[in-house]
Amino acid sequence: MSGRTGRLWTIFPVLILSLAAAPAEKTDVPVLSEVYNVRSYAHPNYTRIVLDVGAPREYVWNETLTPPEITVDVIRARLNPIVPETVTPAGAGYIRRLRLAAKNPTTVRLTIEADWDRVRRYDVFNLFDPFRIVIDIYPKDPAAGPAAAAPPAEKIPKPAQPAGGGYSLARQLGLGVRTIIIDPGHGGSDPGCLDPAGPKEKDLTLDIALKLKAILEAESDLSAVLTRETDIFVPLEARTIVANQRKADLFISIHVNAYRLKARQGLETFFLNFSPDPAVNELAAKENATTTKTIGEMDKIVKKVVQNSRIIESRELARTVQSALASHLSRHYAGVKDLGAKGGPFWVLLGSEMPAILIEAGHLSNPEEIKRLQSAVYRQNIARGIFEGIKAYIRSLGKG
Ligand SMILES: [Zn+2]
Repeated sequence: MSGRTGRLWTIFPVLILSLAAAPAEKTDVPVLSEVYNVRSYAHPNYTRIVLDVGAPREYVWNETLTPPEITVDVIRARLNPIVPETVTPAGAGYIRRLRLAAKNPTTVRLTIEADWDRVRRYDVFNLFDPFRIVIDIYPKDPAAGPAAAAPPAEKIPKPAQPAGGGYSLARQLGLGVRTIIIDPGHGGSDPGCLDPAGPKEKDLTLDIALKLKAILEAESDLSAVLTRETDIFVPLEARTIVANQRKADLFISIHVNAYRLKARQGLETFFLNFSPDPAVNELAAKENATTTKTIGEMDKIVKKVVQNSRIIESRELARTVQSALASHLSRHYAGVKDLGAKGGPFWVLLGSEMPAILIEAGHLSNPEEIKRLQSAVYRQNIARGIFEGIKAYIRSLGKG
């Protein structure tokens, strides 16, 4: 971690931080990381602003008197379209507003509108795993207590957040579903599984996700938000953070499997749980590869959350979507294998605060299914089947 303290009113307060951990990239086209979130926390003595960036990136900051602003430019980055463009931090009158925008096609700019009359100083630094840029702003007149000597450790977004009964209550109250997060697996530097001569999982999942979003928007009043809309890398942790911040009602992660045995085929849908099946654990380990957590660590965390009602609701969602998807495809294609709804220790299902499922929509290791998955019509039918499942689930809640 590196830190610098901003000194107000210096003439050229531009500082560039070089990150030893920044990966060397040899391509001519700059590999863009993604700014996927901006958060702010009001502490009694300061306000912390956190900019979540998909991978270590250089950044530059500056301050201006007129307009009264601090700007932080993240180099070789683009803005994930799901991030709000403006945020008004709660409880800090000395920060009026945060704005996020593309400064140019390869630089994202965070602008902090500050009331300089009330700001004493600020710090800009970065933290790792996941990479994020932190701006702490200290007011001249802290709301309460003495000025903090050192800021407490940042609350790192935690994956395990037992919802404590919220969803069975939602069901009992007949609360509906409004916003659905669709999570196309993998992306950018992470291709997922692939057939060496054929399609990559990351491209198939994005296409199915975009098709599902289009159906949801055309045929329902549900709103759909994608965790990525292009071929970019988004860390697993970030995907559920986004879902939680958008207060989404359902989280649907879309993947395609590859298996050692070429003969294996079919579709399956997972909810978070332990699994006695080595093949499921093997699959989960593969899908979890972009997080640093091992299956062993996962087990401990999963233990804490499997009993809560969110997981029970996730199982319902998995069963409903899996059966709708399999029966929709069976109406149009011969020999569709329904592998069922199952528990599995998938990292991407752990962090969300809403019912969450992961669909494995076929196998890139099976010649038959490769052929089908390469067809846009088949992918449209997968999206259609998932949509039918979502509708059936909402009906089961007594809504829609
Ligand atoms: Zn995958």
